[in-house]
Amino acid sequence: MKVDEAGYLSGVQFISSPNCDERPPGNKISLLVIHNISMPPDVFAGNGVIELFTNRLNSDVSYYETIRDLRVSAHFFVRRNGGIIQFVPCGKRAWHAGESCWNGRTCCNDFSIGVEMEGSDTIPFTDSQYVALVALTIELSKVYPITDITGHSDIAPKRKTDPGPYFDWNQYKKALLTAKQS
Ligand SMILES: [Zn+2]
Repeated sequence: MKVDEAGYLSGVQFISSPNCDERPPGNKISLLVIHNISMPPDVFAGNGVIELFTNRLNSDVSYYETIRDLRVSAHFFVRRNGGIIQFVPCGKRAWHAGESCWNGRTCCNDFSIGVEMEGSDTIPFTDSQYVALVALTIELSKVYPITDITGHSDIAPKRKTDPGPYFDWNQYKKALLTAKQS
């Protein structure tokens, strides 16, 4: 894996999402935001998330009626088996955080990269996902001056709960530290 100048990660699947735009000038990418998502909720198979991020939700699923008009994306999606799909090049602004604030700065999409872990607030993530997330974090940190890694719930606490209580920050940070030292 390697990130090129436009922010495409080599060696992973890329599926283009229209739900992005240019980052406002002068915004260095300094924040990594971890999310969880499953589509429909708690279902980890199928293409619901891909359909959501590409505005092609299957109209046969009734739950999707409630979210049909959402226009959202993330730069990366980490599946349960550790496979990574990129939807937006890091140079562009993905629409993952919504109304948000980190260290007094609002509009976190301007200066962050969004990573969606396939999962929910009620089920642990897989080891393969942590391995993939650590590798991804390290590659991104080589290219961007990332100073903070946080959860969606930390930048939008009144609206969001993800990545949720089952996201093991200790496991992630420990693995990150070990990987950086090796
Ligand atoms: Zn989120």
